[in-house]
Amino acid sequence: MNGKAERHGWGLVVGGGIAGPVVGMALQRVGIPCTIYEASPEPSDGIGAFLTVASNGLDALQAIDAHRPVVAAGVRTNRLVLSSGSGKVLGSVEAGIPLTDGTTTTTIERARLYRALHDEARGRGISIVHGKRLNALEESEDGVIARFADGTSEEGGFLVGADGIWSATRQIIDPAAPRPEYTGLIGVGAITRGMDLPPDPNSFQMTFGRRAFFGFLALEGGDVLWFANLPVQPEPTRAELAATPPSEWKERLLEVFAEDAIPARKIIEATDDAAIRMGAMHTLQPPTRWHRGSVVLIGDAAHVTSPSSGQGASLAMEDAIELARCLRDRPRLASAFETYQRLREKRVRRVLRAARRVNSDKAAGPVARAIRDAVMPLFIRRMATPQRQLWLLGHHIDFTGAVGGPRSLLPTVG
Ligand SMILES: Cc1cc2nc3c(=O)[nH]c(=O)nc-3n(C[C@H](O)[C@H](O)[C@H](O)COP(=O)(O)OP(=O)(O)OC[C@H]3O[C@@H](n4cnc5c(N)ncnc54)[C@H](O)[C@@H]3O)c2cc1C
Repeated sequence: MNGKAERHGWGLVVGGGIAGPVVGMALQRVGIPCTIYEASPEPSDGIGAFLTVASNGLDALQAIDAHRPVVAAGVRTNRLVLSSGSGKVLGSVEAGIPLTDGTTTTTIERARLYRALHDEARGRGISIVHGKRLNALEESEDGVIARFADGTSEEGGFLVGADGIWSATRQIIDPAAPRPEYTGLIGVGAITRGMDLPPDPNSFQMTFGRRAFFGFLALEGGDVLWFANLPVQPEPTRAELAATPPSEWKERLLEVFAEDAIPARKIIEATDDAAIRMGAMHTLQPPTRWHRGSVVLIGDAAHVTSPSSGQGASLAMEDAIELARCLRDRPRLASAFETYQRLREKRVRRVLRAARRVNSDKAAGPVARAIRDAVMPLFIRRMATPQRQLWLLGHHIDFTGAVGGPRSLLPTVG
């Protein structure tokens, strides 16, 4: 073992979604070995629909030379085109700020993203063990013991909770931590194959419909990636959602978009029921402390910005890089974790606030909708300048620079 590994011990990473493999690779880069423990029994092929990894997330991956497989498995997303349900284009905003090699925001099927990150991590010799659901933690003399639902346990010098929005790690280290809050929106999405829409692969079309929000991306070759955000109150239980067949969601969406001048109905009608994914959309305010003892939280386990921000995966990647940097540069776990939280918290809260504003626009009633449609073009014109987006999409972590050294963020505006 080298100095860092001896100093902090072997890392246990709980959760092999997005943050897990990225933190595994970042720890390896700074000379700290770890193993990743993932609850699902098998690699997560076929899960979820798709997501957009923003330029700032790709920049984080670039720090550990891991962005190329993600970019190769996705499609470049240059802009978001926003319109109202009447079909009126309200404006368009840049979806990313290109990295030095030209890479920019990329939309990718979720299963492909997971596979790309897993393959990359495994290819670098990092072990990902499936079928390991964390259900208890104990302090040990040298760090922490993780106990899994299958009765096994592992001991490490420290543990990274990368176990997502319903994180067991968060609950264990702080039973009073905030719980995920329902945004008032249900997300429904799918990839529809073989459509004859005119392709526009680099422009994500987003519509504030009269009763719900609809986004789609029409690719070459007939694939259409789409999602709808539907205001639903009160929050349906998971059992209610699971009991509602996809065909019922389709019916509901067809009715909801009946008055909108957009291709939503055509796309929804052409969608295979089995391709449909749905779930309640949540946010999570970060707990007061993101760590306790030898345990620290990253990604959705620490904060959830809701899908409206298009930033959850990217923030998870940034967390992973920043945590590894802090562990490299701080001799003690406590100071590494404190520094990591300090470097991340302000930014995460700012993204959360921005996402909350978008959610309320999506769930707007008739009066709020009229106001929204009137002010939105103005807002978009303001946001459309790359300078206004720099703080979000141009965020850069100087991975090789020392923590506490000269700041290396791109100039922040606004
Ligand atoms: C509908 C939808 C659309 C979205 N769209 C976007 C988007 O366009 N752009 C974007 O950036 N973000 C988007 N997000 C958010 C994004 O998916 C998350 O922010 C991101 O997945 C967080 O990564 P993570 O690794 O922290 O958590 P996850 O990806 O959720 O991974 C957590 C992993 O931990 C595992 N796990 C859970 N509990 C345990 C346990 N007890 N023990 C061991 N393992 C466990 C899980 O099986 C999972 O593999 C979207 C989210 C949703 C729901």
